[in-house]
Amino acid sequence: MANKPALLVVDMLNDFCIGKGPVCVPYGKDLIPKIRDIIEWNPNLTVIHAVDFHFENDPELKRWPRHAIQGTEGAEIVKELQFPGRLRVHRVEKRTIDCFYKTRLADLIEGLYIKHLIIVGVVSNICVLAAIHGAFIRNYKITAIEDCIRAFDPAGQAVTRYQAQNVYQIDWWETWDQEKFTSQFTEL
Ligand SMILES: [Zn+2]
Repeated sequence: MANKPALLVVDMLNDFCIGKGPVCVPYGKDLIPKIRDIIEWNPNLTVIHAVDFHFENDPELKRWPRHAIQGTEGAEIVKELQFPGRLRVHRVEKRTIDCFYKTRLADLIEGLYIKHLIIVGVVSNICVLAAIHGAFIRNYKITAIEDCIRAFDPAGQAVTRYQAQNVYQIDWWETWDQEKFTSQFTEL
C-alpha cells in the first residue's frame, strides 16, 4: 500500500465552473470532461471531493464575492462529476481555502491508507495550491495535472506551477496520461 492513491478534486462546484458568477473560473468547465476521464479510468480509484461549503458569515466572504453557500445550487458538485452509487467517493466540506483546516480530510486519508494524492480542480493559486501545501507538510506523495487545474488568469496558473515545481517539487504532469497512470498506480 506504499503508493495507494486518491484523486483529490478541489472545488469543482457549480459556482466555480458553471455560469457567469464572480467566482466562476474562465474555461473552468473545460476541466470537467478531463477530470471525468480520470474518475472513469478505474472504478476502484478513491475520489475525494474537497468542496467549499460556506456559511454566510464565513470570514473570507467579507473579502471575496459570495460563493458556495450551503444549501444553494452553486455549492453543488457539477453534475458530470457526481457518480451516484459509485463506491469510494468521499466529500469533505471546508469553510476556508485550506481543505485540511478544521476538516476531516487528514483522518480520512489516513483511515483509507492513502499515500499519494493526485490533485486537480480550481482555483490553481488559491485552494489547489493550499491543498498542495497541506499535502506536502503531511508528507504525502503528490501529483498534480496542469490541464486539470485552472486559475482566474495566466499569472495565477504560472505561480502555481512555479511553487509546485520549485518549492514543493511535486510530480507535475502537463496532462493526464492513462498509460502512465495505469503503470504508476497499480494498487488501489
Ligand atoms: Zn470559499
